[in-house]
Amino acid sequence: MNKNSSNVMALVPKTSNKRETVCIFGTGDFGRALGHKLIQSGYPVVFGSRSPWPSSLIPKDAEVLSHAEAAQKAAIIIIAIQRQHYDFLASLEETLRGKVLVDISNNLKINQYPESNAKYLAQMVPSARVVKAFNTVSAWALQSGTLDASRQVFVCGDDTEAKQMVMDIIRALGLTPLDQGSLSAAREIENYPLQLFPMWKLPIFLSLGLTAFFFFYCLVRDIIYPYVYENKDYSFFLAISIPNRICPIMALVLLALVYLPGVLAAIIQLYRGTKYSRFPDWLDKWMLCRKQLGLVALAFASLHVIYTLVIPIRYYVRWRIEDRIISQ
Ligand code: NAP
Repeated sequence: MNKNSSNVMALVPKTSNKRETVCIFGTGDFGRALGHKLIQSGYPVVFGSRSPWPSSLIPKDAEVLSHAEAAQKAAIIIIAIQRQHYDFLASLEETLRGKVLVDISNNLKINQYPESNAKYLAQMVPSARVVKAFNTVSAWALQSGTLDASRQVFVCGDDTEAKQMVMDIIRALGLTPLDQGSLSAAREIENYPLQLFPMWKLPIFLSLGLTAFFFFYCLVRDIIYPYVYENKDYSFFLAISIPNRICPIMALVLLALVYLPGVLAAIIQLYRGTKYSRFPDWLDKWMLCRKQLGLVALAFASLHVIYTLVIPIRYYVRWRIEDRIISQ
């Protein structure tokens, strides 16, 4: 078995204390935060900047040089610059030959450009080895040390050795690299930070729609109808009774929606006589958000418990008041 295979290397991170110099292009928010973290982890850091002179914002143990000078000092160069400013890198092609360029950039919109930023960088500097990493980590989390919730760093690249070098740095920073394969995966990785609540949209909109429907149904049946036909005012139902009726209905409806796609999928498989065929897109999406639907159902059930506990308290308070009046 090849000892250099990625699996073996992933289990055996470099243990040597000697850290190689890391170069960072760009002294912006992310460049500075990453530089600071690298220095803390024992890496010598050199910044490549358009303004190659020290400033109070830049970590004091780091050097600041021009891009060309800084690139010569390190085998790994982290490009902490927005994609639209990559053009100048083409003029550094010779200096960057064989170097590992780490693309950390994100976009403002999903699929903003025809190719991923990392692919664009690889086309601009074909003699370098491009690796995509760090784009899902925020500068603020790096700086404040609040990385607990986002320790995973997605990594992809076509050159296995270059990817391993970057993954070693990620481990040394106390983060967890997740190998996502070749550079083609960069497009998907670049879309991750832009996907807000990826599978939550449907469950949330569905719950809001159903809640509104049941609320208006109860409003008409329990408050408007008695008011119009019997001239009775039950508007106080709005506070507790109606929400307490809607919550269990919603919990049960959503729970049914969690199990229904599984049943439909089974019927489709039986009808087709095979389980090796694709489900329709709508069923696929529905099945993917079952966990979220279940969690919303649980939230409604919990609310029902709270409301149910409130009702006896309300009766108790009323009983105390009446009791006091009677005794007076
Ligand atoms: P930033 O604060 O605006 O810094 C960008 C840096 O790029 C500047 O400080 C500048 O460095 C350099 N630059 C700007 N225009 C340039 C040009 N025309 N030519 C060469 N260099 C130029 O941005 P940032 O927040 O650090 O983000 C940098 C990259 O990291 C972006 O691609 C972003 O998507 C990615 N990222 C950021 C975060 C975050 O939390 N901020 C998280 C993940 C990924 P010099 O003045 O030193 O030349």
